[in-house]
Amino acid sequence: MDVLTAAWVGAGSPTPLLSTLTGQCSHCGAHEHLTPLRAVVSKQFTGFDGWANPSGRGVCPMCAWGYSTAELRAGAHLITRKPASLTSLGRAGVADFLRSGPLKAGDALVVPLRPGRKHLLPAAVWGRVSIEDVDLAWSHQEVRLLRQLDQLRTLGFGSRMLTAAAPPFHVMKNLAQEQFRQALQAWDLLEPWRQQGNPWMALAVHITTPTTTKESRR
Ligand SMILES: [Zn+2]
Repeated sequence: MDVLTAAWVGAGSPTPLLSTLTGQCSHCGAHEHLTPLRAVVSKQFTGFDGWANPSGRGVCPMCAWGYSTAELRAGAHLITRKPASLTSLGRAGVADFLRSGPLKAGDALVVPLRPGRKHLLPAAVWGRVSIEDVDLAWSHQEVRLLRQLDQLRTLGFGSRMLTAAAPPFHVMKNLAQEQFRQALQAWDLLEPWRQQGNPWMALAVHITTPTTTKESRR
């Protein structure tokens, strides 16, 4: 069972759109009743990588749900294989879940960093965290690094500081000796995530950003 199928079954197998044709689903290849593609994705849609038959007549009820349900693109979701389930998570919920340990082989996590922009769930992979354009491993190593990032936030480092080359002095100078040592250590341990555009860092910063802080900065 793939991630989309488990999510759809977990959601109660909804069929939100009329299926007026029959044939092979353009996305998953199943022979089914089909909904025309233009009713499911926008004219600008280009994400046909991995589709069974992109030039086909339409998509099956499951794929129509996966691509047309705006809520699936708007926020994070946890999908489990056994039993098949779909759970919506807020950013703090995602952070708690990823702090709790490595992602299991039968779980998939979808986290839109730019909500609404892309269809992530239909291409999600078991045992990985799907963000825009990439599926990330989440092992003990990533759990440890997320905790280091948590510690730096607790010590007063904001989102933009976390990706800087060195810990900003105006925060460091206010730290007591023990905190100063902790900050330097956490900073060094986070080095693997600190190169430009690192997707784990982008995910970790996103899920640990307090909602109210982010909104007030807009
Ligand atoms: Zn399909």
